[in-house]
Amino acid sequence: MSKDYDLVILGGGTGGYVAAIRAAQLGLQVAIVEKSKLGGTCLHRGCIPSKALLRSAEVYKQTKEAAQYGIDTSEVSLNFGKVQERKDSIIRTLHQGVQGLMKKGKIDVFNGYGRILGPSIFSPVAGTISIEYESGEENTMIVPKNVLIATGSRPRILGSLEYDGEYVLSSDEALEMQELPSSIVIVGGGVIGIEWASMLADFGVEVTVIEYLDRILPTEDEAIGKEVERLLKKKGITFVKNAKVLDDTLKKDKGISIEVEMADGKEIYQADKMLVSIGREANINNIGLDNTDIIVENGVIQTNDLYQTKESHIYAIGDVIGGMQLAHVASHEGIVAIESIANKAPDPIEYNNIPSCVYSNPEIASVGLTEERAKEEGFEIKVGKFPFKAIGKALVHGDSEGFVKVIADKKTEDLLGIHMVGPHVTDMVSEAGLAKVLDATPWEISQTIHPHPSLSEVMGEAALAVDGKQIHG
Ligand SMILES: Cc1cc2nc3c(=O)[nH]c(=O)nc-3n(C[C@H](O)[C@H](O)[C@H](O)COP(=O)(O)OP(=O)(O)OC[C@H]3O[C@@H](n4cnc5c(N)ncnc54)[C@H](O)[C@@H]3O)c2cc1C
Repeated sequence: MSKDYDLVILGGGTGGYVAAIRAAQLGLQVAIVEKSKLGGTCLHRGCIPSKALLRSAEVYKQTKEAAQYGIDTSEVSLNFGKVQERKDSIIRTLHQGVQGLMKKGKIDVFNGYGRILGPSIFSPVAGTISIEYESGEENTMIVPKNVLIATGSRPRILGSLEYDGEYVLSSDEALEMQELPSSIVIVGGGVIGIEWASMLADFGVEVTVIEYLDRILPTEDEAIGKEVERLLKKKGITFVKNAKVLDDTLKKDKGISIEVEMADGKEIYQADKMLVSIGREANINNIGLDNTDIIVENGVIQTNDLYQTKESHIYAIGDVIGGMQLAHVASHEGIVAIESIANKAPDPIEYNNIPSCVYSNPEIASVGLTEERAKEEGFEIKVGKFPFKAIGKALVHGDSEGFVKVIADKKTEDLLGIHMVGPHVTDMVSEAGLAKVLDATPWEISQTIHPHPSLSEVMGEAALAVDGKQIHG
């Protein structure tokens, strides 16, 4: 038996480690159980490595196009090994940072596999945690006052298409590629598929995206999805929509070939590799949920709006509870859960105010309702849209494709949603997030004086455009 803990967290990803820090700040005695590396998916197999590769792809493309900025470069070549080294070194630095934060917060980290046991002689409630070690060392048993499940998610498998790391890849394996393929079929035109499509096309790979639905990025505003598709097609990416990949037709022989079913028949697609990005499954298996009364529905743990499960002393946050599977969502859910455990009466999260981003080139960012959703919810809306091509800084930047779209309630003037595609919008969306949190109207956004020249001027103009008062368009 080890020391008394107020809280044990299963999983040291973005949700888990941020929750641990908040718990330590509030004076709780806290431990994290992590089977792999602190930082989880986001740091090791998600946000950070993918953005590092995207940045290299952007620099490569820009350098090849440097002549348009008046800069002559001799032949530009790509050293993909160095690209990977750069990515790995960023991960190492951030990983050390997280480890340092655990030490600073006096948070105990157990490097093993955590499982919830049923009620035991140690604990009348189902919260005893056993920690199992790969080395075969004797299990550690902890009986904490509270448990937070933050075990995250893993790539979903499409039928019989098992990931083999060579021909059929999930994003996990794709991030570790040491050489670029010359062609790739990407199954799934969601966020991860589109980021990879954009990045690989910028690296010079021939990319085909196969999407089951009639549009890519189905959760984005329809106008954004269309614009992104148009811009990605300009890079040479092929989109096959309304198309079903027939998983049992996969052939592997120095590449892959697979049949795809469409309304007008079947077609065979061939490439060096295939990346499957059809969503993620919550890590709910083998963590001892059967020993509890915790409810699982549609493959994710059910909680109340303060992340408490059916077992009052067990909370769950992040990808394992589904919803918006994003790093900043997981960490904020973690903070709310901890403040609830510590009786600090936190406010539930307003999910409509959370920005979400796609780091493709062009970037995409949004907060709040899409136009379709606002209409479905019965709002009478007014819409302002303003293009980057009328923004001086975008022309200076050499990247003036895309637009910002602002959706407001006609009756109340309330801001319902802001949707962006274009240069640096993943940084600009925070202004839209702040406007939503402060319940600002488009008029109030337009009264925020945006510096000239700046890309952010597009926000002021799009807000004015809601009432047809834009200046430069
Ligand atoms: C390719 C890709 C790109 C992404 N890009 C972005 C992005 O740009 N922005 C963004 O916001 N989100 C992005 N995401 C999503 C983001 O990574 C996740 O939403 C986020 O990591 C979820 O955090 P989490 O703490 O819930 O889970 P995770 O980060 O998955 O952490 C869970 C941790 O639990 C551990 N674990 C699991 N089971 C056990 C157990 N039984 N015992 C001990 N430890 C266990 C795992 O090893 C893992 O470390 C991306 C994801 C992918 C795959």
